[in-house]
Amino acid sequence: MNLEKATILKVLQKITDPISKKNIVENDMVKEIHIKDKNVQVVIEISPNTPADKRKAIESSAQSLISEIEQVKNVFIVITAEKTNLVKGVKQVKHIIAVASGKGGVGKSTTTTNLAIAMQKLGLKVGIMDADVFGPSQPRMLGIKGKPDASNKQALPPMEGYGLKAMSIGFLVAEDKPIVWRGPMVMSAVKQMLNDVMWGELDVLMVDMPPGTGDAQLTLAQSVPLSGAVIVSTPQDIALIDARKGIAMFQKVNVPILGIIENMSMFICPNCNHESHIFANGGAKSEAKKLGVNFLGEIPIDIDIRKTSDTGLPIVATKPDNPQSKIYMEMAKQINNSLNNQKNKKPTIQFS
Ligand code: ADP
Repeated sequence: MNLEKATILKVLQKITDPISKKNIVENDMVKEIHIKDKNVQVVIEISPNTPADKRKAIESSAQSLISEIEQVKNVFIVITAEKTNLVKGVKQVKHIIAVASGKGGVGKSTTTTNLAIAMQKLGLKVGIMDADVFGPSQPRMLGIKGKPDASNKQALPPMEGYGLKAMSIGFLVAEDKPIVWRGPMVMSAVKQMLNDVMWGELDVLMVDMPPGTGDAQLTLAQSVPLSGAVIVSTPQDIALIDARKGIAMFQKVNVPILGIIENMSMFICPNCNHESHIFANGGAKSEAKKLGVNFLGEIPIDIDIRKTSDTGLPIVATKPDNPQSKIYMEMAKQINNSLNNQKNKKPTIQFS
């Protein structure tokens, strides 16, 4: 029997909202239900006045009630306490982080998606802006279909997947259509995504950059204050050369480097556990040391990462206990610590 939304709604009716005292379905708090294969994602919107323990109780009841449905394998519950009036632009975004790479295909988008979900699991409100205008992957990686509501000509509401706010050129252009744009068009697309999207209140906006050091990078760095950049590279020299250029570019425009990630660092054979270093190994770590920037860690080349990311079921959301998900969680914690340290850093005045 096919798993249907009605089945999910039926079990969710058993949960009572502590504020309105109605059940959460009747009170229109179940905002999204996505079912893909046996995976279920539900977004529940609670009142911002709900106490933390009651919020946790709603989350865990939803988690266990849905898990008990026979056909369900993975459950992902997102609780939001959103004010419906979203503010246009990034005025209420605390931190903007660029995720960049020297080359394409090194896993930058996969890393962005999973880090964003990991940050959300740390309790932050997170959005993803897909600035990779030539090869937008976020709609697919977040499993979001459809187009944003363009009825308001001045401001575009973001789309939503796994509780993350998301905007991408990919929502507006068919997946198989090439995007052939000149510099000024790229610059204007990046500015529009920053200024005309109703991002509302966010702790972190992760920006999935196009590879290299082009117009999009400069536009972003010059349009908004960036809290930092995360550089994703594979371990081999040819990728590291370009990653180095990316780091130099961000440093030139005074954007702090929050760290380097070595993706596809090694392959661990699922049969015999042998570790193969297909693209060499340790290159990004030694590069980080050489450049005096933080090394955030290594992610293996892993079939579960590939499958989940390409089918819109990001591993951190759908398989949180997988060892690779734990790596993303650790990286997110380090990034969050760096952001908190920036916040706590008081300006020092030196007399001489
Ligand atoms: P980029 O954004 O750098 O172009 P993507 O994130 O689109 O790269 O990744 C390219 C391909 O590599 C995708 O099919 C993705 O699923 C896969 N991939 C990324 N990271 C890993 C990994 N650690 N293990 C296995 N596959 C990966």
